[in-house]
Parts: sequence; structure tokens; C-alpha cells
Amino acid sequence: MKTIGHLINGAIVSDGTRTQDVYNPSTGEVAKQVALASKATVEEAIAAAQAAFPAWRNTPPLKRARVMYRFKQLLEENAEEICRLIGEEHGKIAHDAMGELLRGIENVEYACGVPELLKGEHSKNVGPAIDSWSEFQPLGVVAGITPFNFPAMVPLWMYPMAIACGNCFILKPSERDPSSTLFIAQLLMDAGLPAGVINVVNGDKEAVDTLLEDPRVQAVSFVGSTPIAEYIYSKASANGKRCQALGGAKNHAIVMPDADMDNAVNALTGAAFGSSGERCMALSVAVAVGDEAAEALISKMQAQMQSLKVGAFSERQNDFGPVITRAHMEKVVGYINSAEEQGAEIVVDGRNPNVPGYESGFFVGGTLIDRATPDMLCYQEEIFGPVLLVVRVETMQQAMDLIDAHEYGNGTCIFTRDGEAARYFSDNIQVGMVGINVPLPVPVAYHSFGGWKRSLFGDLAAYGPDAVRFYTRRKTVTQRWPSAGVREGVQFAFPS
Ligand code: NAD
Repeated sequence: MKTIGHLINGAIVSDGTRTQDVYNPSTGEVAKQVALASKATVEEAIAAAQAAFPAWRNTPPLKRARVMYRFKQLLEENAEEICRLIGEEHGKIAHDAMGELLRGIENVEYACGVPELLKGEHSKNVGPAIDSWSEFQPLGVVAGITPFNFPAMVPLWMYPMAIACGNCFILKPSERDPSSTLFIAQLLMDAGLPAGVINVVNGDKEAVDTLLEDPRVQAVSFVGSTPIAEYIYSKASANGKRCQALGGAKNHAIVMPDADMDNAVNALTGAAFGSSGERCMALSVAVAVGDEAAEALISKMQAQMQSLKVGAFSERQNDFGPVITRAHMEKVVGYINSAEEQGAEIVVDGRNPNVPGYESGFFVGGTLIDRATPDMLCYQEEIFGPVLLVVRVETMQQAMDLIDAHEYGNGTCIFTRDGEAARYFSDNIQVGMVGINVPLPVPVAYHSFGGWKRSLFGDLAAYGPDAVRFYTRRKTVTQRWPSAGVREGVQFAFPS
């Protein structure tokens, strides 16, 4: 059976100590093994990155950008293969994998503009014959730790910009679906990146803790669940590193009585069940304002869900695939059970779906639960499965209060025809990414991505303009060249 190794200093290596099973979630079978890097292996990667840094930092930004142009081309040429690798290990269907990859490529395109993005700030004559400028220098060795649900896109949020800014990068991808991530990093090497500038170490807590503890690592970007995000942020910060740690979510959509209900139902169906709900921007709670809106929403949704198809990633007619592991499938089913036990109404039940030919796959069908309430476990926690809760309230303010009271603040959306209500909502809601009749308001690559509250630990969001700031350090230089005309005596106070 194939063992997936690491990419260190331009070569694929395997330290051959510990390994973990990698499943094909559609069949439920173990398809590969992944090597779990030891502390020594991670230290080897850090040393390679550290050694590559002086030359890479001094490579002109335009030449660094040219590597990104070639990388973009290789990503496009290899798109089908990347999507196959994603499907085999993650389970998402081909066109969903392609969507993820295209959003990832947008970040490479943005990184191609790095000469423009790194232009500093300059002020002439801040004093007599004194000029001052701020420049943005790379940090050195920086690390990224990424989740299973976007094995191509989330790493591409991080290292294209980090590397284009002149840093050397160590990526620790999810150990559950590592192949597409490693393959993509190899394409970056093929694009002409010098050895050591990108390194990939597969692994678990041992690899992560080594990155968090090693003083050579200057900054850490993390995307994953909130408990781990909080751990990473605390530990990285305590060790003096810059850190951004993006966590989990519970994204609510408000459905107003005046909403275009057909549009809202279509949008909610894709956003709740697409990718089996394993998206940090998935809409997992619909808050219906008024019973009339709730009844209309439920009946249309129920009708729409009759044609939802869950099945293997490889079959094009399916709308979404399996969840990532058997343990996760059981967890999602556990949330549905708890909703039932706590008094919610299971309108469409996705437990034990029939998927002929894939009886051992990790499938959960689309599930619709009405009359969920804030005291229920299914409401409080992130389910990360194809489950949509409906909560009924009387007013828009009650809906907004619910959203604001939730510990997560990643994304939200309002379905309405009322511009005034939409404006009030987007202006006041305590959430980082807001949609108005747009169910998945994921910012494009030239904006930045980040939630509020316990969905993001740190000051700067992912990708876009914030990434340029995160992966560089401002240095401000003030310069005067003594000449015959500019002579000063001793000064004991700030010149003014
Ligand atoms: P996870 O937190 O289990 O794992 C993320 C990464 O952390 C992996 O690389 C994993 O190996 C590592 N890790 C796990 N446990 C660790 C530990 N104890 N110590 C050190 N490292 C550890 O997340 P996941 O299940 O892979 O991904 C799903 C989660 O990610 C969901 O909560 C989802 O909302 C979140 N997510 C958030 C965003 C966002 O942008 N906010 C995007 C995608 C996913």
C-alpha cells in the first residue's frame, strides 16, 4: 500500500516511523497510508527553509511572481488529477472539487501581483533633507496548518502569498486527505521554486507542536476547529510568534417574510448540503421570521430535498458525497439523535441513507430539522454535516440577537427584498462575512477572509490584503546624507 511522504528541500522523503490510514470515504476502505512526521523530520524541514531564506528573500519580487504565474498554469493543466485526488480522499464530488481548486487558484493570481502589493510608503523631506520610507520585509520561516475540508484551497490561501512576499514555508496539511495537497506543492517545485522554499510535512500533534515550539518559525497560520485554533493561537503567541488561527462556525441565514422564497430555498439547499455541509461557511441554521415564512420555507425545502442525491464522489449525478470518516458520520448522526431527543422535529431524515454499491461508505443524507431551539446541542455546536436546522422567531431583531449570542461569527446571510432591513443587518450584525441574498459570502481573493468572535483568533484575516501584512514586517527607514548645507549641533529634544 502506498505511503504518502513529505516534501523537504525539494525531495519526497518518508521518515518511516509512524503512519496513519487514509480512507476513501466513498467506499469506507483504507486506500493509503500517510507518514506522520517526527520532531526530527519537522526540524529538518525547518532547517531547509531557513537555509533557503537568504537567497529567496533577495530574489526580486517580479521573479518570485513569475514562479507563481507558472504555478497557476500548472494548476490549470493538472486540475482533473487534483480533483480526482481530492475526491478519493475527501469524498467531495468532482465539480465541487473543481470549485475549491478554482478559488485556490484565485489566490495564486493575486500573489502574481506581489511587486505591486509590496510597494512601500515613501515621504520626502520629513525634515530638512531627510527622507523616510516604510518597506515590508519577509519574516523568514513561516508555517501553515490546514484542515481536511479544503485540502487544495486552504493551503493556497496561505503559501502563495507567503512565498511571493519572500518567506520560506512549511505546510502541515490534514493527515486525513494529504495527497492533493502534496501533489500541488510538487507542482510549485515544477514551476521553478528553489528547493527548501516550500516544504510539506505530513503529521499530527507531534509535527504541529514542533512548529509551535521551534524559535526559527516566525509565524503560524492555522485553519481548523475552534478548540485547536485556540490552542494554536495561545501556544504560538506564548512562544513569541505571529499567529492567525481561523476556527469553526455556525452560520445562520435569516429568512424574512418578504424573501423570494424559491431563491432562498435554492440557495439554502446548496449552502447547507453542498460538500456534505463540511464547509466552514456552510449555512447550518435557517432563522425564519414569522410562522408563515417558516411554513413556506419548510414545505418548499422538503419538496426540494426529495431530489437530493448523496453518493460516491466519482458519480456525476450526485449532489454531494460522504463525510470524512466513520467517526465523523457517527458524530453527525449523534447530533440528529440528540435533536430528536431534545424535542426538535426531524422533517427530512438523512440517517442511514441507501447508497447502492457503497454500503460501507461514510454517508449521511440531507437532513432538515424544524423547531430547533438555542438550548439544544444541535444548535450550540458545529455539526459539520448535511444538516439544516430551522429556528422560528417572531422578529428580525430576535433573529439578529440569536446570531449575536452565538459563540461563532464566521458567516451569515439575510434573504429579503427590503433594502433597509438588509442594510441594518449588515451594518450591525456581529459576524465577519455577511451575505445579502448571497448564501456563501466567501470573499474573493483580493479581499480577505475572516470571521469574528471564536471563529478567528488573531488580528489579521486570511489571504487578500491582510495576508500581505501578515507575511511581512514593516520597517521604517529615516535617512539623511550629511552635506555642507545641512549641519546641526547637538540636540537634546525631538526636532519639531
Ligand atoms: P481540526 O481542528 O481537527 O484539524 C486542523 C489541523 O489541526 C489539522 O492539520 C490537524 O492535524 C491539526 N490538529 C488536530 N488536532 C490537533 C491537536 N490536538 N494539536 C495540534 N494539531 C492538531 O479540523 P478539521 O476537522 O480538519 O477541519 C474542520 C474544522 O475546520 C471545522 O471546525 C471547520 O469549521 C474549520 N474550518 C474553518 C475554516 C475557516 O476559515 N474559519 C475553514 C475551513 C475549515
